[in-house]
Amino acid sequence: INNFWNPVLNIGNFYNSLITATAYLERIFETMDEKPNVVDAPEAFTLPPIKGDVRFNNVAFRYDEDGPLNLHDVSFHAKAGQTIALVGPTGAGKSTIINLLSRFYNVSGGNITIDNVDISQVTLKSLRTQMGVMQQDTFIFSGTIMDNIRYGRLDATDEEVIAAAKIARADDFIRTLKDGYQTEVQERGGSMSAGQRQLLAFARVLLADPRILILDEATAAIDTKTEALLQEGLNELLKGRTSFIVAHRLSTIQQADQILVVNDGRIVEAGRHADLIAQRGEYYELYDSQYRMLQAE
Ligand code: ADP
Repeated sequence: INNFWNPVLNIGNFYNSLITATAYLERIFETMDEKPNVVDAPEAFTLPPIKGDVRFNNVAFRYDEDGPLNLHDVSFHAKAGQTIALVGPTGAGKSTIINLLSRFYNVSGGNITIDNVDISQVTLKSLRTQMGVMQQDTFIFSGTIMDNIRYGRLDATDEEVIAAAKIARADDFIRTLKDGYQTEVQERGGSMSAGQRQLLAFARVLLADPRILILDEATAAIDTKTEALLQEGLNELLKGRTSFIVAHRLSTIQQADQILVVNDGRIVEAGRHADLIAQRGEYYELYDSQYRMLQAE
């Protein structure tokens, strides 16, 4: 129970090297092609352009078909455009929920719908091209900054790339680089700070503009100035899309439309921050102990 808020304890460490964009999904899929857990159903159809209304209906799941359930009876409804924060201890099942939504695995019971379409009935491609995933390490390839951002949507014009970078709060730092948007960066982005790589990933996602965004928020040392930019960039990113955040930052959790408190493969509480605090349950206990610890620092 003590490590529930563990990442939040590192209050100076709020953001980690998050994140990449849809490019990351492609890399995961390449790996998965070697050992696919999921293939298209024989009569799979193309998921039409979605609004992003997501329902889990009594979802059960086990990784090992002979093993115990890793998720039990998970139900929730994310309305299009909402921000959903998943919180809970390591091993609770947060990533598993995300893995099922992006259909890296098929559910063992219940179902998942997007805009009332069961995702097991649609082609993987039509599902995944409408989702953006940002992981803890931003994927940078050697090339220009311009091309790295354009990776979010390959047919974007230079003007569109720059517009996205501005909204993502990446434009300022890019303009301080030697050749601006034409600056060559190395694979892994060694010349950029963790915060700068994250801002670049934000720009990519804005360019890709997925209706559903999955974000694994993590913690790393970021200077306070970049931290403020990241907060602004994140707020821009969340606008107008359904977002699922494995959340560690208190500010993200407090602003979420719904917090799903996950423990031992179940959603044990759900609601907004203020409601869960008023409920005086598990979330309250954990928040309260955390808050007092932060104040004592
Ligand atoms: P969280 O993201 O909240 O830390 P996970 O969803 O990763 O938790 O894990 C939930 C449970 O599923 C844990 O018991 C974990 O050990 C198990 N698990 C996660 N991934 C796999 C896997 N690929 N194979 C088997 N078990 C797994």
